[in-house]
Amino acid sequence: MRKIVVAIDGPAAAGKSTVAKKVAKLLKCTYIDTGAMYRAITYFAIKSNVNPENEEDVVALLPQIDLILKPNGKVILNEEDVTQVIRTPAVSGNVSYVASYKAIRLHLVELQRKMASSISVVMDGRDIGTYVLPDADVKIFQVASVETRAYRRHKENLQHGIKCSLEDIEAELRKRDFIDSSRTFAPLKPASDSIILDTSDLTIDQAVEAVMKVVKDKGYDLESLNER
Ligand code: C5P
Repeated sequence: MRKIVVAIDGPAAAGKSTVAKKVAKLLKCTYIDTGAMYRAITYFAIKSNVNPENEEDVVALLPQIDLILKPNGKVILNEEDVTQVIRTPAVSGNVSYVASYKAIRLHLVELQRKMASSISVVMDGRDIGTYVLPDADVKIFQVASVETRAYRRHKENLQHGIKCSLEDIEAELRKRDFIDSSRTFAPLKPASDSIILDTSDLTIDQAVEAVMKVVKDKGYDLESLNER
């Protein structure tokens, strides 16, 4: 049985999760959204009246957190389904602070490595190819211009009934990218052996096709992977 591990990293709203989900489906393997894990802790901090910018107080919440990512994509935090609520502007605006705390990262990275230890996965995030799974078989760094990302995220939010202005979204993405790429521990950056995929002018299907080409070029043929 041949196992495959695909890491998809990149800045906020570059379309990683959409592409990763489709690639996981084609490869018949599990999709893991690591951003959802940082979002769930941020949501819990806000709900617990803890300031997300206070590292000590956020880290002190860890023993109270039981986080499960279901194979169907649902995010369960202490038995509450938080799949939708972790996408709200309040969480998006604070998640990068929480994700910069080393103790939080070490806790979640351990869970992420465990999830990928025995099964084939497509995992998306910021530090998957550089830190979480440095031996991943395929590493993609997915990018798009900030204007394109803001436009896409704005449209997506409106479809989900989340009201926001395009300007606010762009400002939030710039802020998150800055905090994510300038933190000292496991920052957002491409792994030296990653393939940079700019999706600014690509449709979703074209981006998926580009990732699948990298998979094939690495010597994986779909039939043998799908026989697992
Ligand atoms: O992927 P998503 O945009 O939902 O991630 C939310 C935030 O979680 C990111 O802006 C980043 O601060 C953090 N994150 C991270 N490392 C990951 C995944 C997400 O720091 N592997």
